[in-house]
Amino acid sequence: MAKGSYEKAIVSLQNLLSEKEELEPVVAERIDEITAELQTTGCKSFDPVQRIKTGFYYFKTEIYDKNPELFDKLKKGQEPKFLVFACSDSRVSPSHVLNFQPGEAFMARNITNMVPPYDKTKYSGVGAIIEYAVVHLKVENILVIGHSACGGIKALMELPEDGSESTDFIEDWVKIGLPAKAKVLAEHGDKTFEEQVKCCEKEAVNVSLANLLTYPFVSDALVNKTLALKGGYYDFIKGRFELWGLNFGLSHPCYI
Ligand SMILES: [Zn+2]
Repeated sequence: MAKGSYEKAIVSLQNLLSEKEELEPVVAERIDEITAELQTTGCKSFDPVQRIKTGFYYFKTEIYDKNPELFDKLKKGQEPKFLVFACSDSRVSPSHVLNFQPGEAFMARNITNMVPPYDKTKYSGVGAIIEYAVVHLKVENILVIGHSACGGIKALMELPEDGSESTDFIEDWVKIGLPAKAKVLAEHGDKTFEEQVKCCEKEAVNVSLANLLTYPFVSDALVNKTLALKGGYYDFIKGRFELWGLNFGLSHPCYI
């Protein structure tokens, strides 16, 4: 934190302190503690600009400068083998989980790693990513990765049956996975809600794989055998990754 900001925080707390006679003793004591903490360790507060600077410095000195061949090649263009759909969740970056290096994977990240069905007006952003990856970059694989403890899937499973919505974007977006929810409720109605959420995290990947077939350039490439579709599931609680092919089932997953 910049020195000025931390001094301001102390002043704010001192103002609070001047009123502390009116506060409960426990609260007043806590304010004393926080003030002392700020005065001794104020500079340890999170500084986003500093974090960005140190992050890029590490990348530049340890990765960019040490791999001139790779980055010289990438200056001329990209030839990724994968288009990857992954959740926006901060814990599941495919670049970390699958160690994708720069240039290896064209990436689409969104709430709950959804591939919506072909729709030029509603989902043009996703359609443009798939079209560019398949038609222009000629990726050989599309990998859709679900993950454990996915908030978007939980929201989908919690959606009221009457279809009413209370959010501006999230609920409408996660409804892309409604066929997965229906399948899970039909086949695993006897399981706990937590177990159903986990089933849906995987089944939603299959819905996305099926939706990919609605894009004509995807189905053409599949017929021509220049493209393969793959489903994946990253369990960050157990530290496992599951991979399966376009079989629309989870009966024979390959655990890695
Ligand atoms: Zn998620």
